[in-house]
Amino acid sequence: MDGHISRYMLYYPATLLRGELIHKHMRSYKNQQYMSQDQQRDYTDQKLRSILAFAKKHSSFYQDRIPELEPGKSAQELLRSIPFLEKSDLINNIDKLVTYKARFSSAKTTGGSTGEPVKLYKNPDALARERVATWRSYGWAGVSIGDSQARFWGVPHGSLDSNKAKLIDFVSNRRRISAFDLAATELRAHYQKIQKFKPKYLYGYVSAIEALTHFVESEGLPRVNSIRCIITTSEVLSEPVRKHIEVVWGVKVFNEYGCGEVGSIAHECEHGRLHVMSDNMFIELVDDDGQPAKTGQIVVTDYFNQATPLIRYKVGDYATMSDEECPCGRTLPVLENVHGRAYDIIKTPSGREIHPESVMYIFEGLQANSGAFSQFQVIQEELNRFKINIVKTGKWSDQLVGSIEAGIQQRIHPDISCEFAFCDAVPREASGKMRVVKSMLR
Ligand SMILES: [Zn+2]
Repeated sequence: MDGHISRYMLYYPATLLRGELIHKHMRSYKNQQYMSQDQQRDYTDQKLRSILAFAKKHSSFYQDRIPELEPGKSAQELLRSIPFLEKSDLINNIDKLVTYKARFSSAKTTGGSTGEPVKLYKNPDALARERVATWRSYGWAGVSIGDSQARFWGVPHGSLDSNKAKLIDFVSNRRRISAFDLAATELRAHYQKIQKFKPKYLYGYVSAIEALTHFVESEGLPRVNSIRCIITTSEVLSEPVRKHIEVVWGVKVFNEYGCGEVGSIAHECEHGRLHVMSDNMFIELVDDDGQPAKTGQIVVTDYFNQATPLIRYKVGDYATMSDEECPCGRTLPVLENVHGRAYDIIKTPSGREIHPESVMYIFEGLQANSGAFSQFQVIQEELNRFKINIVKTGKWSDQLVGSIEAGIQQRIHPDISCEFAFCDAVPREASGKMRVVKSMLR
């Protein structure tokens, strides 16, 4: 379907019917990405004041948690005096958290890394702004609303959910490709579907797009010329995997970072910098004591969700804030790095804690040099015992078992032994996500 037809005949009318004024917000969001520092400060202060006052007045959960704003204090100062909102609060106190607006809102259930579902409500304005910010960032990748998309995602099983998904996919001009059916025959069918549909871009789970990329490469299949870019999401995108996808499809990969509770949090621009959607939310990074930090846990305050106000919500990921300006000229803040939940911290027999990136480093180095495996997963089962799941390629050699074990012993601890298991695909969590470095220790 032509992108313009899809946008004006289907997408705008369908979202308007749900009370989402997407078209209205598009222009202001385009301008907001270039706000001056003064404008940003005023914008942030105004939006924070507004959501804090609303939450205090209309949500019984926040009534006592949010103090009165004293004269002369900024909204940011007030915010820092409010306790963090944990995922467990969202699960256990949802009835107190929601406001009267929940009745006129969409319910959203998200998986979450622990597999424990989180349910919350989003008012139409919050949803519209979430979508507008997302479309704006797809614009950085050269994609417009209504452009055709091949979507690597879950496929609902029940007939009601499945029909609903089909309708949404039709309105959004996209075809769904099961991100969980990745055997060779299924990958061939996925490729044929893409070739027939001729999408402008691919979107979805890193692991699914990577699996198809390996298949296309190993079968020597031609590139699909309609594809202009690839947008990956929901899982860690390592540099070797990014490069591999870019080389095989001949287009640039843009990574998106977000979560179901607040939508898109940050998105890469043409220069590969991860810009925060700071016109929809206030981001803080805090250390383990809850103090501001350059590298720390991501804490989000959503400016527009008035159905389930999320004030200082701990998303569960870690990031590093950059203080460099991006050459693209956008003034939205930049995250240097997001350490997603795909990683758990590794503990050593001597009591040290090791950042999982050093484990990733061992594998990514070998993967880049040998191309001997397409996926891996490291599970720390006991302090001195790791299980390594490997999806081999044709270039696998058994000598690599020794190299991997030696790498782990050298970087983590000499007493660690590794048990290898070879599989067709790395098993996923109940939420559908893949955890690359996982710890069973508590
Ligand atoms: Zn940029």
